[in-house]
Amino acid sequence: MALPSEYSLAGKKVWVAGHRGMAGSAIVRRLQREDCHILTADRSRMDLRSQAAVEGWMAENRPDAVVLAAATVGGIHANNTRPAEFLYDNLVIETNIIHSAWRTGVGKLLFLGSSCIYPRAAEQPMREEALLTGPLEPTNEWYAIAKISGIKMCQAYRRQYGCDFISLMPTNLFGLGDRYDLTQGHVVAALIMKIHAAKLAGDTEVVLWGTGTPKREFLFSEDLADACVFAMKHYSDELPLNIGNGKEITILELATKIAETAGWTGHFTFDTSKPDGSPRKVMDVSRLTALGWTAKTEFAQGMAAAYEWYVANSASEAGRG
Ligand code: GDP
Repeated sequence: MALPSEYSLAGKKVWVAGHRGMAGSAIVRRLQREDCHILTADRSRMDLRSQAAVEGWMAENRPDAVVLAAATVGGIHANNTRPAEFLYDNLVIETNIIHSAWRTGVGKLLFLGSSCIYPRAAEQPMREEALLTGPLEPTNEWYAIAKISGIKMCQAYRRQYGCDFISLMPTNLFGLGDRYDLTQGHVVAALIMKIHAAKLAGDTEVVLWGTGTPKREFLFSEDLADACVFAMKHYSDELPLNIGNGKEITILELATKIAETAGWTGHFTFDTSKPDGSPRKVMDVSRLTALGWTAKTEFAQGMAAAYEWYVANSASEAGRG
């Protein structure tokens, strides 16, 4: 069914589900610059895994638009060791929100997926058409299966009910309000923690997981948020839309850049008992670029902001833990 590709946020009630996470909080900050009313629901008031709670909240608050940024997320170790949570939490959050968005007549829904939905051996850079063309990376297949289901739900509700529900696939993210947890977090947050701690302690060695050779693309949180608002307004298609900057670096290069940002001059060693995960993950962002959006933040500038955020907000807590 053909749907209009332009959507105006003006005067709309927009629910950001997952507003406390790195992506969701950046989306709230970005939406504050739009002429819309932002709705949020605290975890203490509503468990998104409860169908009754989500349906009740939606019926009562009647958002015009929804950004589905809520998810159980984590780095390679968390993904690999908590398969049940990553599958169950994400499937149930998606089905609850997408289904009740249809039931309450939500006019636009944006679902956030992940670059890990693409096959491990997908041709690089990865195009949206690579979805479901091969086996997944085993360290995060549980999360990927849940996210693929979310994409499929958006497609199904578009086809059967004519809902303007879209899916965005962000690349690896870093930025403000990341999860600073050495075992559960993603690589950027973990390395900021380790390198900052080494700097304070005067240590000259930091251990990286794996071989340091995998390649990843890193997008700054505020750029992701800008892309989400752009896509809400200008994207309407059942094919997911990749969000990234198309630039990749190795994990060792990433660590070196974080060390430069932090002003730490030690060296890195490798714990190869830990998994590398995908050897390479870089997005083909040509469809996004053709629509007229490109990432604005230079990597060094984003990294400086992320490091500053950590030192101001989390470093003392992490030190106590
Ligand atoms: P992925 O992109 O889904 O594999 O998730 P991560 O962000 O957790 O990891 C990216 C890469 O960084 C993997 O190759 C990890 O092995 C590597 N890495 C190196 N050191 C660390 C670390 O301290 N924590 C994490 N999470 N990953 C690390």
